[in-house]
Amino acid sequence: MRFGVSPAVLAAVLAALFTTPAWAQDLGPHFKKLKEGIFVYAQNPADSNATIILTSEGVVLIDSGHRPPDTVALAGALKKLTSLPVRYLINTEPHTDHTTGHWMFSPPAVIIAHAGATESMKQGLNPERVRKIIAEYPDLKEMKNFRPVTPHIEFRDRMTLQVGDRSFEMRFLKSVHSEADTAIWMPKERIVFAAASVGVKRFSNLRPFVRITDTLDAIKMMRGFNPEIVVPGHGAPGTVKILDDMEKYYTLLLERVGAMVKQDKSLDGIKKELRMPEADDWQGKDRFPNNIEAAYRAVTGK
Ligand SMILES: [Zn+2]
Repeated sequence: MRFGVSPAVLAAVLAALFTTPAWAQDLGPHFKKLKEGIFVYAQNPADSNATIILTSEGVVLIDSGHRPPDTVALAGALKKLTSLPVRYLINTEPHTDHTTGHWMFSPPAVIIAHAGATESMKQGLNPERVRKIIAEYPDLKEMKNFRPVTPHIEFRDRMTLQVGDRSFEMRFLKSVHSEADTAIWMPKERIVFAAASVGVKRFSNLRPFVRITDTLDAIKMMRGFNPEIVVPGHGAPGTVKILDDMEKYYTLLLERVGAMVKQDKSLDGIKKELRMPEADDWQGKDRFPNNIEAAYRAVTGK
């Protein structure tokens, strides 16, 4: 060895070089770099993800943090990354755990969501809830400007946004979680933001209007993009396996509930009997009964 460095040391140095985040500033332990200029904030697997996307013409955010302290952390990271303004903030869904943080970025950010989001957000961030949120964080100085911020633009079905060198293809996801779920596909970067249509080892809360068949269609559509990275609404970003796992789970659930319906079992009977050992290590087991209800609706057409 000419420099007297052992291969093992050299390998370790090289490994460190390639695994150390390439950005100069440390954004903190909850940030993960997905690609050059794209950082996801994932504080806790159960909490919502928020993503910072730098472009040559300013920043695009996807969702704005689970709770106000997350939003403040997101704003702090942004300051370290760029002096460019947040141009757009795209909502994957209108629920408060994705939208409460808008006040920190808008203005100047223009908020984009699917039709129905504004109505839903007005209900979610009603005056009573706003008072509660403010009371919850007496020591957070940024809260003094807190107010609910609803979308400036609502699109229907699909919309393409071009900001600097990046493009964002938004697609409505019908009946997967809320009134206004949106998948966002970045074709050059090969990243799909899947909203709450899928979870990561976690049962989704399937409200009465949610249709598993629409969710399976949404999964198929997103897989059709051939994404390299899948960022769910909640849970660690990963590969297309996130879509595959969810598809497998719902397919099995429909099969098993369907077989029991054929044996004339009642919904209550199915809830008592049905086991899903494949999802034994999943979080949010209290939602399993409403998953069975959704499957029952799907197979009986009720
Ligand atoms: Zn939600």
